[in-house]
Amino acid sequence: AVEIKNLHKSFGQLEVLKGIDFTVESGQVVCVIGPSGSGKSTLLRCVNLLEQPTSGQVIVDGVDLTDPDVDLDAARRRIGMVFQQFNLFPHLTVRRNVTIAQERVLGRGRGECDQIARENLERVGLLDKTDAYPGQLSGGQQQRVAIARALAMHPSLMLFDEPTSALDPELVGDVLTVMRKLAEDGMTMLVVTHEMGFAREVADRVVFMDQGVIVEDGPPEQVIADPQHERTREFLRRVL
Ligand code: ATP
Ligand code: MG
Repeated sequence: AVEIKNLHKSFGQLEVLKGIDFTVESGQVVCVIGPSGSGKSTLLRCVNLLEQPTSGQVIVDGVDLTDPDVDLDAARRRIGMVFQQFNLFPHLTVRRNVTIAQERVLGRGRGECDQIARENLERVGLLDKTDAYPGQLSGGQQQRVAIARALAMHPSLMLFDEPTSALDPELVGDVLTVMRKLAEDGMTMLVVTHEMGFAREVADRVVFMDQGVIVEDGPPEQVIADPQHERTREFLRRVL
């Protein structure tokens, strides 16, 4: 589970997160929606301390990541992140992209890394691409490799920041299918997305953010289908 408590983040004078509170229970999927610049990526980056929060707490599986005494590297290993840009190593094969962090960060042996890579490439439907290089794959396939790479670390939480926004429309579905399957398998997921269909079908809760605050937080049938706030309604009119 992830608990975010009174999270604030400023860049100089600019206050980007103005007191964010919410929880993602284990096995839940929470989708974060909101206009550009509302602080969604900053929020995600604060959850794994890629950004240092100005104040507030981020508690992942009972460990407060903002505690200065915490072993941040150990805690981060439990959190997978998938970005809009896939950030694969272009000069490494798919297999190597999925094994390198297992080997270097977790210290797993070569055979175990390969086995876990195979399992997770199978999970994303790319077992036949293990020896390809990223440049030989479509954007959607590259993103699925990035998901397999994150899963191979056996995270307890997966963060997704607009994982389909850089993809051609016909490639979006395959990535969403993989994410839907992950959700069904019980993965705890925090997903920033503009895919309202996905949010509606897969999310346990949808959080609408605007200007650094959570305006609305509830089940999709409320936040998307029957929003209570004018700001949410206005945003949805633009994206739906
Ligand atoms: P989008 O939908 O466009 O991805 P977002 O909701 O993810 O937007 P953020 O990327 O979190 O928004 O940015 C929120 C605000 O914080 C913006 O005004 C942005 O310019 C600012 N910001 C983000 N990162 C930094 C940084 N490293 N330094 C200064 N300002 C930043
Ligand atoms: Mg963003």
